[in-house]
Amino acid sequence: MHSPDLPVPPPFMWACPRCTALLVDIADAVTMSTFSDLYEGTLRCQMMLASHLAHEHLAEVPEPHEDCERCDFYRKCTGSQGIDDLWAEHRARELFLPKSVARLL
Ligand SMILES: [Zn+2]
Ligand SMILES: [Zn+2]
Repeated sequence: MHSPDLPVPPPFMWACPRCTALLVDIADAVTMSTFSDLYEGTLRCQMMLASHLAHEHLAEVPEPHEDCERCDFYRKCTGSQGIDDLWAEHRARELFLPKSVARLL
């Protein structure tokens, strides 16, 4: 059910009905995407969950990465409109995605 390289989501996510619902949506979307390459729901669900985490669970979002090009970029732009949100969403992705995938966006 759970592929081995996926992180186990932290307890606060299971305590939140919205996080839990989105995690289930992602699992369903992953199953769907094995039937057709044309299905893009997985990415959409990931973005919805990252956005929810950045807005509702900002205190739980991991610290900026030390060895990450994207964090370096955001660090330089921080304070610009929308960048802080995008940055938090980028860091939130590793709560529910493998590192290699989490840092793609
Ligand atoms: Zn939540
Ligand atoms: Zn980063």
